[in-house]
Amino acid sequence: METDVATDIQLEAEALQLPTKRRRFVHDVYLHRLQRRHFLIFSVLPLLITIAAIVLAFYRPLTWVDLGLFAGMWFLNGLGMSLGFHRVFSHKCAKLKPSLKVGLCALGSMAAVGPLLSWVALHRLHHESADMDGDVHSPNLHGSSFWQRTRGFFHAHYTWMARHQYPNITRYAPDLLKDRTLYRASQWYVTWIVLGLVIPGVLGGLITMTWWGAFTGFLWGGVVRMFAVANVFWSLSSFSHLSWFGTRPYRAHNDFDNAGNNPIFALLSFGEGWHNNHHAFPWSAHHGLFWWSMDYGFWVLKFFEAIGLAYDVRVPSRKTIASRRVGVVPVQVGEGTIN
Ligand SMILES: [Zn+2]
Ligand SMILES: [Zn+2]
Repeated sequence: METDVATDIQLEAEALQLPTKRRRFVHDVYLHRLQRRHFLIFSVLPLLITIAAIVLAFYRPLTWVDLGLFAGMWFLNGLGMSLGFHRVFSHKCAKLKPSLKVGLCALGSMAAVGPLLSWVALHRLHHESADMDGDVHSPNLHGSSFWQRTRGFFHAHYTWMARHQYPNITRYAPDLLKDRTLYRASQWYVTWIVLGLVIPGVLGGLITMTWWGAFTGFLWGGVVRMFAVANVFWSLSSFSHLSWFGTRPYRAHNDFDNAGNNPIFALLSFGEGWHNNHHAFPWSAHHGLFWWSMDYGFWVLKFFEAIGLAYDVRVPSRKTIASRRVGVVPVQVGEGTIN
């Protein structure tokens, strides 16, 4: 089985054209300082503001404008994360016209889960070493007792971001370093976050024509939405990799990979909750794999394909899907169809 694991990982890296001989991590005190600062500003502070916003809502209830701004911004931000950061930029499951690339980079950045290049590098590292040494946000490397798994869950969901090994971007994201459009869009990371906070505030103010409407628009469409979307994607590392949740019908690329399918997370995360499917077929644009699976991220991608903004959308053939079912003899990674 060892040989199969190594071959699978190697094939996936070759499909992404990653220079696997380069070192995996960059050790730098300055980077760890940046990580801690990012964690405090974009993970801890939004948590505190979200708690304050919920308490405030008991005294002054939310309006339909607040809820509409939350839902609209949640949809756009989640789309940027699911289609942009994850499916296309990390896994090359389709090609996009430059305008859509920049748009999805901007929208995904609004979740404040890290600049595009860092996120993609970390995510490819996650697939390379899922639930093994090197996976910086695995919940399964802290022991097997109930409390050790609970600690692993909190690590995978949240605390890993305070300090973790930093993946070498020249190894894990050389394609994005060469893509001038995306590279420049990625450098505007903080600007996209600020826009994601300001736009719902301005809209709330204009729709209600009150300063209070601007404030709650900023709060619910901006900060709370940012924290909610980030939590959805953190859940894919925590809930979706814990054996307490989900089903595992397909073989992933190493024997320790614990990614599971969960329809509730699929509903909350644009279809990303079909995480076992995704780890078995990381290059597939369709995480649900079947038409009846709830995967609205894929449906939106098909819409972009229909209007000519996306092309070369990759999905596995029925034969390839069947061959990776648990208990079936392995086939090579990367066999797929373009439709
Ligand atoms: Zn995963
Ligand atoms: Zn992935």
